[in-house]
Amino acid sequence: MSIHLNLELTDHCNIRCRMCSQSLRDEAHGVPHRFMAWETWRQSLQGLAGMEDEVHLCPHWLGEPTIHPQFDRFVEYAFAVNPGNRLFREFKLHTNAVVFGEERARLLIRLANSPGMAADTFRTVHFSIDAHSPAVYADVKGADRGAQVYRNVARFLRLREELGGLRPHATLAFVVQPGNAHEARAFRDHWRDLLRGLGREVDQSWDWPAREVDTIYFRPLNAGNQEDMDALHARVCRELGIAPPGVEQRLRAAESF
Ligand code: SF4
Repeated sequence: MSIHLNLELTDHCNIRCRMCSQSLRDEAHGVPHRFMAWETWRQSLQGLAGMEDEVHLCPHWLGEPTIHPQFDRFVEYAFAVNPGNRLFREFKLHTNAVVFGEERARLLIRLANSPGMAADTFRTVHFSIDAHSPAVYADVKGADRGAQVYRNVARFLRLREELGGLRPHATLAFVVQPGNAHEARAFRDHWRDLLRGLGREVDQSWDWPAREVDTIYFRPLNAGNQEDMDALHARVCRELGIAPPGVEQRLRAAESF
């Protein structure tokens, strides 16, 4: 059996996505936002030794993990103490890629392709992007960071090829909503063409990525008017040619987050 473990490095975030309640409140767990202490991280990881179940680790729940002041140190330590996968079998990162410079990209690619652990330990970086143009990014994500995010993600993808790294695979995610649905095709075309140009296999998906390859992932929005949002998502996915028959009914069974 496997256990999915989210060790939340922080519940702070540096942007304010429309679709995220995290951006609407000053606290997320009944106390002011915080950053995880080093000793908490170290002891949490060491406490995984000897677990019978396979641990799938993600340093994120709410908030944006990469804005932790010691994010790089935390992640580097996790891999340094995991030879032979003694503490965790899989690792994945979710990020908005606002604070995602070249050194960080190089570090993550190096860790993902380092010997001494199963080759598919660091499987995925999930990039929450949700827009194509800077204007729509600013509207949907609540911050004028669209061009910066596109540069950061593209640099990461190119560096991964330059460094000869297979992993981590990238998920380019787009939560379909009224403010960005008209940009879904441009988003898909941009990232598909960039990845194909790098010689990568690319999936396009209406549901959580099922295969271990780079994937452009269109997610439905969780909202009060769920039927409307599912219908919008289904329409966009049909227009992109990636929706299976009856996609609306399948969505709720799969859940969107
Ligand atoms: S980047 Fe993530 S945590 Fe931050 S507001 Fe957007 S969805 Fe929420």
